[in-house]
Amino acid sequence: MKFCVDTDKNNSWYIGTKDYDSKMINKIETIMFQGNGYVGMRGVTEEPQLNEKRDMFVSGTFDAFPSEVTELPNLPDLLNMVFQIDGETLNLKDGQVKGYHKYLNMKNGELTREFTWIINHKQINFKFTRFVSMDNYHLLASKVTVSADKGINLKIKSGIDGQQSNSGTQHLMEGSKRFYEGKFIQLTEKSQQSKIEFVFNSMHKLFVNEVLLNDKPYIKMGRRQIFENYDVDLAAGQIFQIVKYSNVFTSIDTDVKDDDLAEASVNCLKKSSWANYHELLQKSTRAWEKNIWKKDLVEIQSDDITPQVAINFARYQLAANTPHSPNMNIGAKGLTGEGYKGHTFWDTEIFMLPYFIFTMPKIARNLLEYRYLGLEGAHKKAIRNGYRGAEFPWEAANPSDGETAPLWGSADIVTGEPMKVWSGFIEQHITGDVVYAVMEYLNATNDRDFAKKMGYEIILDAARFWVSRLEYDQDHERYEITNVIGPDEYKEHADNNAYTNYLAHWCIQKAIQVVNILKEDHPDLYVTLDKKLDLAESYNDWISRVNKIYLPQPNKNGVIPQDDKYLAKKRIDVTKYQINDQISEIFKDYNLDQVNDLQVTKQADVMLLINLFDDYFDKDVKLANWNYYEPKTTHESSLSMPPHSMIANELGLDDQAYKFYRWTCETDMGVHVGKSVQGMHLASCGGIWSMTVQGFGGVRISNGKLRIDPHLPKAWSSLKYQIYWHGSIVKVSITHDEMEVEVVGDGIEFINNGQEYQVPDNSKIEVDDFVPEKVKG
Ligand code: BGC
Ligand code: BGC
Repeated sequence: MKFCVDTDKNNSWYIGTKDYDSKMINKIETIMFQGNGYVGMRGVTEEPQLNEKRDMFVSGTFDAFPSEVTELPNLPDLLNMVFQIDGETLNLKDGQVKGYHKYLNMKNGELTREFTWIINHKQINFKFTRFVSMDNYHLLASKVTVSADKGINLKIKSGIDGQQSNSGTQHLMEGSKRFYEGKFIQLTEKSQQSKIEFVFNSMHKLFVNEVLLNDKPYIKMGRRQIFENYDVDLAAGQIFQIVKYSNVFTSIDTDVKDDDLAEASVNCLKKSSWANYHELLQKSTRAWEKNIWKKDLVEIQSDDITPQVAINFARYQLAANTPHSPNMNIGAKGLTGEGYKGHTFWDTEIFMLPYFIFTMPKIARNLLEYRYLGLEGAHKKAIRNGYRGAEFPWEAANPSDGETAPLWGSADIVTGEPMKVWSGFIEQHITGDVVYAVMEYLNATNDRDFAKKMGYEIILDAARFWVSRLEYDQDHERYEITNVIGPDEYKEHADNNAYTNYLAHWCIQKAIQVVNILKEDHPDLYVTLDKKLDLAESYNDWISRVNKIYLPQPNKNGVIPQDDKYLAKKRIDVTKYQINDQISEIFKDYNLDQVNDLQVTKQADVMLLINLFDDYFDKDVKLANWNYYEPKTTHESSLSMPPHSMIANELGLDDQAYKFYRWTCETDMGVHVGKSVQGMHLASCGGIWSMTVQGFGGVRISNGKLRIDPHLPKAWSSLKYQIYWHGSIVKVSITHDEMEVEVVGDGIEFINNGQEYQVPDNSKIEVDDFVPEKVKG
């Protein structure tokens, strides 16, 4: 695979670059992101740089600027440090740079940058290291080591810089600036509309040859800024170190109960600063190990290290961007950039949740609880659009907000007029996607507590929406769903998008099953939910309509029509618009109305239907649809590739499976400059895990049962992974001709190649001849 960063064949947790003058500056900032799910910041340099994107966000702190949709405010910067050597400000554009190396250790999230800067005939060695703590979510620490071959005077300015904005929009009102004990500096701010209070603290410790200096800083304040300034004379060969401790707290944090946040937060920083950088890093490293790496093991053996780097990168980014409270969810770009304003899409349910469901079910539960808390917003949206039940928002921020998609997008390249964003109104499959994820979670975990407290209600409320959404077509005597956007966003106002119709039908079926379970096993809960949701009446509607919902069937060539009109639209050669390692350029040639009239698809649509409901369709239908749709798909959205890789793998189209796998791994780490500037593609990260464990590793849920039908790429000699199934740990090891399944905990059952296997409590079995028939055939 071709990455824009270097890899190390002996260390799959390393990504690095020796190129400081890179055109990739914004991309490197994105992929060298550091975070812990609470706070996240881009991998910017300490000293300000031209064209940098210096963003720091705290999960869930949304604020709406007048006439704009709510977004995560870009917070004051805590990373800044400006160095002056004998009066020359450190800037790698000046002087000469030797031995530049910037690298991220994905195992513990520590970012390092080292180089020698040659200026005025002096060689000054710098080493910057920093991390965001996985142990104490509020804390970040950096350490900079400086030495020189001749005596130098070193001036340092470092502090809290609130002069940040979201591309010009300023969400935060300045509160107070103060300092404590002459060295702890503090800035407080408040968001304009959501009135969330933020407190930022920093302090520094300075050492020469490991001896702590007692120098008091000269404190300087500006608008929204407070800095500490130090002045040190350093002899040749002396080693200077500055350690910066910072923290951030907000009034919506659930782990701090103190009324006086300013005081409490500075006390926390005082305590943190008793430990040295190394001790704090060790604690954080242990937390990464315990909370993440012990749970989501994936090991790939291959001559090439990049597949292991890719899966480590995906796991790193997912963990670093996942909030810890059910009031918040993962944005399409997490905390890694301003793109999509921090909003959550179906990216979570369909592309990221499989990873959490199978490796960290508690986090998966939080992410689904967010949708439960979102029922209020989903009701608002349904009512506004004239429906009943829960219509989940296409773009979500605070759970109760309802829809937060913007109304207007960029200008149409033909008419020059602003284009309306229809997704927030008619991209309705999200309501089915949420239910799909709830069912996958329930099947994998058997978490009855979640089912009773939240899961059943989500399913029932979503089905109430769908049944109110159905339209009766007299001519065909069937229920239809017209005027939607399916996963393929090139087709606005589509009628009977197959993905949407199947999902709606399946949701209603699930709701019917839930009512039966409730009546039988939980009559009290049935009564409670009946009061809330008119279950008796809804149930009758579901029963009378579910079998009359139009489910587009494969035509005589086996092709499932993506929607009513798709197959009759004009065909063009899409090859030149297929992304390859580039960004699709179809909109340079056509506007959206024109693309609407072509047989061109943005991303997996029918193919996603086939991937999610893979039991519904036989191999011939899958292949016919692959042959029909893949050549018409630009894969402009990175969400397109993982389902394509998984289906190709199942069909034995090995080269295609690997190609889409590779492209997904290259989405953020690849060499294309423009991609990832606005932030990571976190659905892609979920996709990397899914293609690896669910695609090549073969883990699927079939009719509620665990199925493991692996099919490894030729380039890999083995794959090991660990998943949870019904509370037990399942460790699977696969080579090209052996498969071993080990269980830690209660025994499990699984299906391989159509045959059922049982693994007793705490034991392992081997499966011979495991390659699925589908692939062999
Ligand atoms: C996306 C939509 C989204 C819209 C506004 C588009 O680029 O494709 O899914 O709703 O932006 O955020
Ligand atoms: C895709 C959507 C996706 C969104 C956010 C859009 O380009 O078409 O499916 O949800 O990006 O990642």
